[in-house]
Amino acid sequence: MIRCYNCGTENTDEAKFCSLCGTKIVSEAEAQLILEQREKQKQEEIKLRYEDNLKRMGDRSLIFAVLGIILDFIFGIGVIFSLIGFIMGLKVYIKLKSQNYLWSVFLGSLGLIFGVLYLFLLVIN
Ligand SMILES: [Zn+2]
Repeated sequence: MIRCYNCGTENTDEAKFCSLCGTKIVSEAEAQLILEQREKQKQEEIKLRYEDNLKRMGDRSLIFAVLGIILDFIFGIGVIFSLIGFIMGLKVYIKLKSQNYLWSVFLGSLGLIFGVLYLFLLVIN
């Protein structure tokens, strides 16, 4: 009996294809290789999806950072947006090591400084 590596069904020794799922019957070593390849592919896909999410977060961090600065200048309340943009941008930068996201970090910290300065001026006046 040979076990199908794809679905686990027992097949006769003469079988060329699995009687249940139709997968080609291969030697144990070959099956091991195929399964390892599949696992690697799956890990790769997970990694790509993770990086995609990070990139999307990086894009959003820039929006927050820019919004923070704009709100700082118009209403003086951009600090929260700047902080979010700064933290998100920094996280994506650290994980992806892509300098694109340093803009979020830079603009976010700039917005933070402006925002805090504005609040400080508001308090002492
Ligand atoms: Zn099968």
